[in-house]
Amino acid sequence: MSADCIFCKIANGSIPSNKIYEDDELIAFNDINPSAKVHFLIVPKMHIESLAGCESQHQTLLGKVLLLAPKLAQEQGLAGFKTLINTGKDGGQEVFHLHVHVMGGGASRPKS
Ligand code: AMP
Ligand code: ZN
Repeated sequence: MSADCIFCKIANGSIPSNKIYEDDELIAFNDINPSAKVHFLIVPKMHIESLAGCESQHQTLLGKVLLLAPKLAQEQGLAGFKTLINTGKDGGQEVFHLHVHVMGGGASRPKS
């Protein structure tokens, strides 16, 4: 947990989210500023700053994040979807806690 991290606070329940999934390691919730009709984020509860901060010990966790995307997308009624991981300030990352965007359902305005 990182004290000033908004996604750590969502993961530990200290600030609310529109949660669609939770298990011991992952949480998924709707993006507060959606770029598509369905736009949610899959977030490891462990604080990892970005994809660039991942190491071999995170391999299984990364696999779980990606495998969850189609499962939740289907549950949200999506026949297809986009995934996005912004990495670093120059990569458009705004929240420095690793997360995968999952977007679909039309009116998509993909983030850069
Ligand atoms: P990124 O640019 O990949 O770091 O994207 C961060 C995303 O987090 C943006 O799409 C924001 O709309 C979203 N976001 C920021 N704060 C919250 C929050 N409290 N609940 C849900 N989504 C959030
Ligand atoms: Zn965090």
